[in-house]
Amino acid sequence: MNIRVRIAPSPTGYMHIGTLHTVLFNYFFARQQGGAFIIRIEDTDQKRFVDGALESLLKTLTTLGLEHDEGPVLNADGTLSEKGSFGPYIQSKRLDIYKPYVEQLLEKGEAYVCFCTAERLEEMRAAQTAAKQTPKYDRHCLALSKDEVEARKKTEPFVIRMKVPEGSTTFDDAVRGPITIKHSEVDDQVLLKSDGFPTYHLAVVVDDHLMEITHVLRGEEWLPSTPKQVILCQMFGWESPVFAHIPLLLNADKKKLSKRQGDVAAEDFLSKGYLVDTLINFVGTLGFNPKSDEEIYSKAQLIELFDLSKVNRSGAVMNIEKLDWMNHQYIAKLDEQKLYEAVKPFAPEIDFTNPIALRALQIEKSRANRLTDFAASLAPYLGIPAYVPTILVWKKADAEDAKKNLENIRAILSGAGEEAFADITLIEGLIKEYISTNALQNGNVLWPLRVALSGAEKSASPFELLWVLGRGESLKRIENALNLLA
Ligand code: GLU
Repeated sequence: MNIRVRIAPSPTGYMHIGTLHTVLFNYFFARQQGGAFIIRIEDTDQKRFVDGALESLLKTLTTLGLEHDEGPVLNADGTLSEKGSFGPYIQSKRLDIYKPYVEQLLEKGEAYVCFCTAERLEEMRAAQTAAKQTPKYDRHCLALSKDEVEARKKTEPFVIRMKVPEGSTTFDDAVRGPITIKHSEVDDQVLLKSDGFPTYHLAVVVDDHLMEITHVLRGEEWLPSTPKQVILCQMFGWESPVFAHIPLLLNADKKKLSKRQGDVAAEDFLSKGYLVDTLINFVGTLGFNPKSDEEIYSKAQLIELFDLSKVNRSGAVMNIEKLDWMNHQYIAKLDEQKLYEAVKPFAPEIDFTNPIALRALQIEKSRANRLTDFAASLAPYLGIPAYVPTILVWKKADAEDAKKNLENIRAILSGAGEEAFADITLIEGLIKEYISTNALQNGNVLWPLRVALSGAEKSASPFELLWVLGRGESLKRIENALNLLA
């Protein structure tokens, strides 16, 4: 079988992290199976349409390196086109496609015209709710005669509803197993709205069929829609795709992710300083853990290991501490060039033509959780912050001791060549030799030296600082400390 999957987002202007979750599972599955990953835009609900939203979605997918095989394409000059032979892939360009299918159902008596006004439906729902019934269309218009329907159609707005038959439907969800729904619980869903636009349910079934979609991997919130869609497929005589409803993403308090855009957009995670690889690893393993003893997976590994039968049924909690931990792992692994490229946009005030800045990156990467951390962590290397001389004094020593040791270290470092600074073990050896020869404690020397170099009580080790700052800047900072102690 030629596996074909799709994501069918409505363009909202940003990529909800839940959409990214769905995208990743579809993408992993398609790539693993050698199938096609398709993007179809569901924009028939004109109220939800946002200008530029499609462009933004496609841009984000490109940034994330998740290429699709068919669907809308954003060209370099900003124009939109399409690729694939099942188009158009934007539902608002497919409006003529749906009507004949509805005609077909009307002819077979599997759909009917409904003239009920919004007010009547509202009253009906209120009455049903008051009687503790699940709100459902009461088939008020089903009994209308053909002539009456034809006559009223000329003057009144109307919708077309599906006539859900009696019985029950079972489908085998690839994540949740077999699910049976009694038709008595299924509403006579509107298929065609009064403006002639198809509803989501009609469009999704027709498009999935015409686009030869084999598997529908989507969020759990669509599970209640599935019976309607399976019944529609049966009415048309089509085989349903395989459904796999993937878990919802939850906040730390186990509630559904809040809708506030700032908290849920994939783009925001990138601008907060998370790497693309981190985001794919983190979101791609929410509700799916390929191996219980492992957390770090590349995109290629996730493609290889993806397994629908290992997807959890319960909601997946987004643990931001874990995301930070994971990003920390990825940042620490970046090579010099990649790290520089990743950090640069987040630290525009840092002068990377200065070799000190590039060396400082190498040291600070083992401490960073987000790319946004570097602007602050690199600053003291490029200009020592003002500090009070008392912090130069180790807690078990006094100012005299700090001064004497700094003077001696200054002499040793002045005598050492530039090459000693280029090798962290060499410079460390020189300092340690001084400590042992003079039978000192580490703190007598390393504390004042570290503070002299960093201007702070907490920092990288003195050896790392010497390596980053180099001979000239290190001596300058020691000199400055000695002046403060004088
Ligand atoms: N248009 C729906 C959405 O916004 C698609 C649901 C589906 O995959 O069927 O996610």
